[in-house]
This record gives sequence, structure tokens and C-alpha cells, in this order.
Amino acid sequence: MSEQAPIVIVGTGLSGFSLAKEIRKQDREMPILMITADDGFSYSKPMLSTGFTKGKEADELAQATAAAMVEQLNIELRTHTTVTGIDSAAHQLLIGDERLEYRKLVLAWGADVIRLDIAGDAHEHVYSINDLMDYRAFRQALAGKRRVAIMGAGLIGCEFANDLRNGGYEVDVIAPSDTVMPGLLPKPAADAVVAALTDEGVGFHLETVVERLERDGDGVRLNLANGETLAADLVISAVGLRPRTELAAAAGLETARGIVVNRALETSAEDVYALGDCAEVDGHVLLYVLPLMACSRALAKSLLGTRTEVAYGTMPVMVKTPCCPTAVCPPPVNAEGDWQVEQDGRNVRALFRDAGGTLLGFAVTGDYAMEKQALAKEVPPIHG
Ligand code: FAD
Repeated sequence: MSEQAPIVIVGTGLSGFSLAKEIRKQDREMPILMITADDGFSYSKPMLSTGFTKGKEADELAQATAAAMVEQLNIELRTHTTVTGIDSAAHQLLIGDERLEYRKLVLAWGADVIRLDIAGDAHEHVYSINDLMDYRAFRQALAGKRRVAIMGAGLIGCEFANDLRNGGYEVDVIAPSDTVMPGLLPKPAADAVVAALTDEGVGFHLETVVERLERDGDGVRLNLANGETLAADLVISAVGLRPRTELAAAAGLETARGIVVNRALETSAEDVYALGDCAEVDGHVLLYVLPLMACSRALAKSLLGTRTEVAYGTMPVMVKTPCCPTAVCPPPVNAEGDWQVEQDGRNVRALFRDAGGTLLGFAVTGDYAMEKQALAKEVPPIHG
């Protein structure tokens, strides 16, 4: 490895660009090469599910072009370039036949959408939205249309349902669970979101799945397992994300649910790091913005010579369903305790306490969502 080899960051999502910005706060000159499979635009991904509510077209959600980022961050940036492998022993990245040397390599290449294998001939009507390019394609396809079916009732499915209703579209949500966001919210809070979205005009088809997607004129017919049939112009598939681990695993890096890293964001290979949606940090796979910001601050320091461990605080998540403001801070996975629920219509305050009364997590909806900051202060940090 030559001394001139750059720090290479793969991925220009929030993780990649946040890391580059953190490095530049301390060092304007260190050579940084960023590589991305997409067009390298800087944008805030959470905004993708607020386009109609905020009255913004896809391009208005972009914050800067790739060229502007090159200028702003004094970096080299290769767009529309897909990394195909890592040779960590040689400190090289593979891009097809090309080999590229790195001094330090940072994997910030995000998560893949899970795609369902559904019978039928209407797959060109199905959209998964996990980046700005996906969103542009979806908005273009939506022009002149009015009916959208959403497969999946997780955070992203619910946010798109609310946003599309705010844009005046007819929306149906189909999901196998008996309520929304089952892994994230306790049932009373989730049911409050269902009730509010139903009042907004969203049609829910829960405890069932889409079995077939058939072309139907210019649109699509959805056959559900419960015997119902729905008509839509477009379908959004929002059934989940999976950290991108394949290339890392093929290169011999340790992977589990994500690319395994310790609190210093070090993978099992020397000089290779990971953060963001692709990473499993000290056992945590948190596909949200707050964790990746904390990681980018710590990793910038390490890359500049001071090995630094990330310390996760509490990580509350706001669900962007304006018809029922919702905030949640899930309790640790194996935490022992109980949910205590107070409810006044759509206003739900669910507090998860251990036997000693310590608050370990919460979910608040409606008027109680305002309490999220005060509650978050009470919950012990993830890395206490
Ligand atoms: P990504 O943004 O996915 O970036 C991955 C990058 O890697 C891309 O540039 C891609 O082109 C590149 N790449 C991938 N593979 C390769 C390869 N082989 N070679 C080269 N480049 C490659 N979180 C919150 O905290 N709050 C919210 O309100 C919220 N809302 C959301 C709403 C939506 C609709 C979605 C989809 C997510 C939301 N999230 C939210 C999650 C949050 O946006 C993500 O956790 C975060 O943006 C992930 O950033 P990332 O940089 O790790 O990954």
C-alpha cells in the first residue's frame, strides 16, 4: 500500500457524506475518494416520505449535486460506480476488473430493500423507495395517477400512506400483522396510528398478504390471501430493509445481521470500517439517522489518528405521520419489564419500566408525542 493511497468511502448517503464532513471539520487536505453506485446527490433520506406534505418534487428534496459536494468537501467522487469486491490483504477495492488502493476503507453502502416474490405479471407497477433515484422514478410514474397500494405497514409504509393522502391520492395498506409498526410500537400506540390514518381515508387490509399482482388495463389488480381484490395504479413495496453484507462476507469480513463492527467501527479486517445502515455496531442494527451521526463523529476522529469509540445515547425515533404525531424509543431487545399504558383517544402514553421502576423505553402518540424529549432524558443511554 502506498502512503498516498486515499481514505476511500463507499457510499454517498447520509453516512458517507456525514463522515466526510466530520473529517473536513478537522482536516481540509487528507485525500478522500468517495465512490457511489448512484448519482452522488446529497439529500436527506427521511424527507422522501414527506414530499407531498411539504409540497416538494423529487428534485427539490436534493440538497446538492455531486459536483457541488466535490467542491464543498474537497474530495474526489466517482458516481455510477459499483464496488464489486474487497481484497483486504492487499488494501484494494475491486470495481469490475479495476483494482483501487486504499489507506483506510469505509463501508457506508446502506441496506437493500427486501423484494417479495409475488405471482402475477404486474411487477413493473411495483416500486421500492430507498433512495432519491427510486423516489424520482416513483414520482414520475405517479403523474396522472390516483390510486396507490402499499405493501407493508412498518414505519416507511405508514409514512408514505400519510404523505400520499396529504397529496390527495387514494391509499390502501396491506400487511400480515394485526396492526402497524409491530416491531416498533406497542399495540395501543400502533392502533392509535391506524385509527388516525383510517380517519384520513387510508384503507387498511391487515392480517393478510398480497398473493398475486395482475395487470389490469393501465393499472394493477391485487389479489389478497383473504379473498379481497384491490385495484391500484401503482404499488409501493415497503416490506423491510436488509443491511448490505454480501460483498463484505465474500471478502471474509465477519457479518451477522449487518457488517460486524466494534464501537470503534472497526470490522474484522485491518483498516476496514463500516457505519450506517450496513453496519452492526456492537450488536446494534439501527437503521436511523441519529446512530449514523454519532458513528460518523467517532470514526472521523479515528481516521485522523485518535482511535475513538462511539457512545450511543438514547435513540428516540419520530414517526412522520402528521395525522398522529408519534415518537418511540424501543426498550433494549431482551429488557425485562412491562408496558404501562395511559390512553385518551388517539393520545397514548406507553412507558416500559423494569421491576425497579426505571424507564427503559416509551411510545407516545398524539398530544403526548410532545413529551418525547423529556422522556428521552429519563431513558438510560444505550452505551451507559
Ligand atoms: P444509504 O443512504 O442507503 O446510502 C448507501 C450508499 O451506498 C448509496 O450512495 C449507494 O449508492 C451506495 N452503494 C451501495 N452499494 C454500493 C456498491 N456496491 N458500490 C458503490 N456504492 C454503493 N431515519 C430516521 O432516523 N428518521 C426518519 O424519519 C427516517 N425516515 C426515513 C424515511 C424513508 C422513506 C427511508 C427509506 C428511511 C428513513 N430513515 C429515517 C432511515 C435513514 O434515512 C437511513 O438510516 C439513512 O439514510 C441510511 O444512510 P446510509 O448512508 O447508511 O445508507
